[in-house]
Amino acid sequence: MPVALTVTDRETRAVWPAVLNGMRLRCPKCGKGHMFRAYLKVADTCDVCGEELFHHRADDMPPYLSILIVGHVIVGLMLEMEFHAEIAPWVYLATMVPAAIILPLALLPSIKGAIVGLQWANRMHGFDPANRHPDPALPGYP
Ligand SMILES: [Zn+2]
Repeated sequence: MPVALTVTDRETRAVWPAVLNGMRLRCPKCGKGHMFRAYLKVADTCDVCGEELFHHRADDMPPYLSILIVGHVIVGLMLEMEFHAEIAPWVYLATMVPAAIILPLALLPSIKGAIVGLQWANRMHGFDPANRHPDPALPGYP
């Protein structure tokens, strides 16, 4: 006779390994498959273990965190430069503007991967097979 799974029978999902796998752009479950199929497009499923990844809802959190981190780094650098040397304005333009463009773009995939890993580990937004409900925003909706 089959035994129904209860909430306490579910496998536990460790948060930090899932977040670190996401930061490495890997599947939060197996750590081997690719999380992204393009620069910021999360793959529908893991190409190694088949885990469904399309349940994520990272939304605006990755850009928010990316801007927050890079903003603090750039402001800190600018303050440090200003307090210790007389810097010409063109130096700021030549260094800080490219940094303000390149750094957030470089950080975005890792931050988005970490957010997806966090959502997967906490069974958020359909990552919990026992608690899924039809969502018209998700792929496969009838
Ligand atoms: Zn996987």
